[in-house]
Formats: sequence, C-alpha cells, structure tokens
Amino acid sequence: MAYDAEPGGDPRGPWCPKCRLPVKKGDPSTKMHFDHDPDGSKGLSGLWHGECARPYWDTITPALEKLKKWSGGF
Ligand SMILES: [Zn+2]
Repeated sequence: MAYDAEPGGDPRGPWCPKCRLPVKKGDPSTKMHFDHDPDGSKGLSGLWHGECARPYWDTITPALEKLKKWSGGF
C-alpha cells in the first residue's frame, strides 16, 4: 500500500495544503485543482478548507466562478 500514490488516501483523512490542518468531516471544503500540480504531488491540488481556498479562487479553474455566483456573493 503506497499512500503517496493515492491522493486523498491518507488514513488520517484529507489535509488542507494551505494551513496543514485536517479537513474534518463537515468542515466547509473545496476541491482544488492546480494545472501545474494535476496529481497533488506538490501538495497543492486536493481538498482545502473553504476559507483557505478562497484567495485562490481567482487563479484556478473557471468552473469555480460558478461557485462564487452560487454562494451569492461577489
Ligand atoms: Zn486550511
């Protein structure tokens, strides 16, 4: 079993790359995907806390634009 080869397969659960704390079940979270880190090997792509991911929304996939609108904000 190689945890490294399995993004999100950490037995402790997903960890937020931004603040290095676990993303607990029920926490607001966002699945982030960076083009230069497609498989998460650089520790960027993966599950982030919603608030941790917010500053990056402008820099990543256009799909997240929809999320912004849905969240009724700005
Ligand atoms: Zn975080």
